[in-house]
Amino acid sequence: MAIVVMKFGGTSVADIGRIRSVARHVKREIDAKNQVAVVVSAMAGHTNQLVAWVREASLIHDAREYDAVVASGEQITAGLLAIVLQSMGIPARSWQGWQIPILTDAAHGAARIVDIKADELKARLAQGEVAVVTGFQGLEPKRNRISTLGRGGSDTSAVALAIALGADVCDIYTDVDGVYTTDPRIVPSARRLPRISYEEMLEMASLGSKVLQTRSVELAMVHRMRTRVLSSFTDPEALQPVRSGSEWQNIGTIVCDEEEIVESQVVSGIAYAKDEAKVTIMNVADKPGVAAAIFGPLAEANINVDMIVQNLSADGKYTDVTFTVNASDLPKTLEVLKNAREQIGYSEIKSSADVVKVSVIGVGMRSHAGVAAKMFKALAEKGINILAITTSEIKISVLIDAAYAELAVRTLHTLFGLDKD
Ligand code: ADP
Ligand code: ASP
Ligand code: MG
Repeated sequence: MAIVVMKFGGTSVADIGRIRSVARHVKREIDAKNQVAVVVSAMAGHTNQLVAWVREASLIHDAREYDAVVASGEQITAGLLAIVLQSMGIPARSWQGWQIPILTDAAHGAARIVDIKADELKARLAQGEVAVVTGFQGLEPKRNRISTLGRGGSDTSAVALAIALGADVCDIYTDVDGVYTTDPRIVPSARRLPRISYEEMLEMASLGSKVLQTRSVELAMVHRMRTRVLSSFTDPEALQPVRSGSEWQNIGTIVCDEEEIVESQVVSGIAYAKDEAKVTIMNVADKPGVAAAIFGPLAEANINVDMIVQNLSADGKYTDVTFTVNASDLPKTLEVLKNAREQIGYSEIKSSADVVKVSVIGVGMRSHAGVAAKMFKALAEKGINILAITTSEIKISVLIDAAYAELAVRTLHTLFGLDKD
């Protein structure tokens, strides 16, 4: 008997038919005598609609009220799934974040889970009742307000709940049957990875592969929670129920320790992120203190700067500085730089959101030199200009024009031997 957390994303609960199919996945685990907590997202497209309504009501709005609105999508699917399960004779009830409670900090719109009081849930699971929990939402206890965890946050709800329940596995059901070497919707020759290390998955997620929310991977890694990604579209009866300790069916992707991966390549995956924006500050003085004058005010305004390039100065006096921020922060960034013009001293600012960041990721890079050189050469041969570069021990990211995104991803996918046979 195992304790299983099963999370179903938006497409997996998009209508009543899909919810019935989810219920069959749950039934399989219950029939095998497992204890099951389910975490659900809002129906596909609902959260987008709720966000759009909030923005239409007022572009500038109280983040607590934003959360009150956007958290509502998950309430619907949790109730509906509980009803369907009950109609199949399976004891079930829905739980909203505040009812458990899932306690978070006060960073509304992107709150962090601080604690989950899971005693009541544990007792009920042990009695065979299925807990259907709303993903994405929690309770900020100081002001007694509903909070949300940021887009894609149901993944994090699921992993956090799995940790609180001491679950054997956190199964993330989505619309693809695992984590692929790159987004299979962009590159049809992408391959499913039977296993991926926490570290690589963390890089993939934070560099744009939205199959798992970054924070969910962080949590899984810290607590060594075994997390699987699999498809809710697979016939529920074709999957084996979870059994603690036994071999895993070769299905989906297991996110696990690096040591558990036998067959590993230098590069495991390619990610891309479209939400970058590039800013170039022209003709700043080439002297100490200028970088601080630029990035100090940005940090104070809570703007995260990602890649930074400072051009060589032709005359030793003036230079250009280019950096990237999240595209949603671009207007604020330009405002801050305008206000700091006196301190910085520049002639002009150029900006563009027509850029993408493409990254190659792999723990094998720690022990293999030459990946960067190979990557830059292949991009050059395709006529793709690199605007900025960042690296870490296990990843290399380049910023390029958005028009070349797909070409770059496909080229690198082939170059590093990731295409399926
Ligand atoms: P859900 O609604 O179930 O949370 P998401 O849309 O958030 O689903 O995540 C699944 C999507 O992630 C897939 O449809 C796929 O297009 C995308 N994706 C991006 N990169 C990858 C990758 N490397 N492997 C698998 N899916 C990926
Ligand atoms: N419904 C939320 C979103 O669309 C949370 C999630 O699906 O993970 O972002
Ligand atoms: Mg998601």
